[in-house]
Amino acid sequence: PLLVNQIAAGEVIERPASVVKELIENCLDAGATRIDIAIEEGGLKLIRIADDGHGIPAEELPLALTQHATSKLETAEQLAAIETLGFRGEALASIASVSRLRLSSRTPDNDSGHIIEQAGDEITPPRPAAMAPGTVIEVRDLFFNTPARRKFMRTAATEFGHIADTVNRTAMVHPAVGFTFTHNGRKSIDLPPNDDQRQRCVNILGKELEPALLEFEHHDTRPIENDAEGQPLQPASIWGLAGEPSIARSSSKFQYLCVNGRPVKDRNLAHAVKEAYRGLIAPDKQPVAVVFVELDPTLVDVNVHPTKAEVRFTKPSSVHGLALSQVRQRLLATDL
Ligand code: ADP
Ligand code: MG
Repeated sequence: PLLVNQIAAGEVIERPASVVKELIENCLDAGATRIDIAIEEGGLKLIRIADDGHGIPAEELPLALTQHATSKLETAEQLAAIETLGFRGEALASIASVSRLRLSSRTPDNDSGHIIEQAGDEITPPRPAAMAPGTVIEVRDLFFNTPARRKFMRTAATEFGHIADTVNRTAMVHPAVGFTFTHNGRKSIDLPPNDDQRQRCVNILGKELEPALLEFEHHDTRPIENDAEGQPLQPASIWGLAGEPSIARSSSKFQYLCVNGRPVKDRNLAHAVKEAYRGLIAPDKQPVAVVFVELDPTLVDVNVHPTKAEVRFTKPSSVHGLALSQVRQRLLATDL
């Protein structure tokens, strides 16, 4: 199974940021209200993620590191999805196969937590440990046993940047959850729990930018499309913050695109945002912008690839038009 898991890991664990993304998603699935992430050496030496979620009972700990032993599949369709996505209930097993992993967890009804460790093909039996309710996962020496992958890693600073970006993009769509992120002992992200959406955006983009962020919101009453029976589908809506042209950047790092509550990468939507600034910023500049689009779920496929953030729209031009017109209108309504 170690080799099988390493092959799975090769597909989905591209770099330390992929580990962080999977682990944070597990914390959110467990209902965490706080997630604390600490890394060393760009995550290659250590990734440690602690949450206050519902935890894992001691007897289920070894199962959590076993391939396809997910607790989250309930229906036949979900089981079928394993085939197509090839990656549910695999994250922990995959990560454990390419690192030295320690998993500690305590359920709220228990006075003590338990720890297990994966060492090669062996998983140690759970041993008791004092800890707060929740789960702590430590991933050490990522790719130590897959030298080819290890060689592809960039500098610690580059990997740190990717992880910070992953944390920010996830935190953007979970404003109620508190996040901290520490690199080599230095805190670089500190987002309090119970932010509202606007406050979370401001906290991530930087409070100093707040006066230059223009809020827009629109609920499209005309449906983007009719369903097979000719019935109109749920209308689309859009909300976001458009940075004034004066704060445009040289990179698109300050663009956060979200569809149906998920961070996405989408060239079509990014193009619409850029287009909205035509003539307002230099062509080599990138706007600061947050865009949340809500669409009928039948009009967007978020499962193009299990680990990538790409989406596929049924009607890309409608989404493009909605974003372009709303951002543009908001910009033109302001004395810039
Ligand atoms: P999946 O998330 O697809 O179920 P994973 O390999 O990511 O698969 O996780 C395996 C299992 O371990 C989960 O189904 C869950 O039961 C448990 N688990 C992992 N991380 C946590 C966590 N932070 N809190 C509680 N349970 C967790
Ligand atoms: Mg998972």
